[in-house]
Amino acid sequence: MPKKIILYACDLCGKSFEHLVSAEECERLPIQNRKAEIGEIVRILSGEGKGLLATVKYTRVLEPGWGPGSMYDHTWAVSVDITEPGGKYIGSRFLTFDTYEKDEE
Ligand SMILES: [Zn+2]
Repeated sequence: MPKKIILYACDLCGKSFEHLVSAEECERLPIQNRKAEIGEIVRILSGEGKGLLATVKYTRVLEPGWGPGSMYDHTWAVSVDITEPGGKYIGSRFLTFDTYEKDEE
């Protein structure tokens, strides 16, 4: 007989938990490294498109356990469209806080 299961989701990162207290605990973890918002221009620091400018299309808060250790827990991440100098679209990429910087020009 299937059982109905109730889960609780952290309002910041969306991770779901069996217990309310765990979800509340997750929500108490502050959002870190919130560096760029939708529509802003960032410079890619490593990997594909290194050195190029990109436009932020989506943002999200990474859930605890994302990536190795806890360095990305509740950190701000962005999805970007990468463009060549001159403006030609190259592709899209997901960037963690340590792989981009805000373009201050
Ligand atoms: Zn959370």
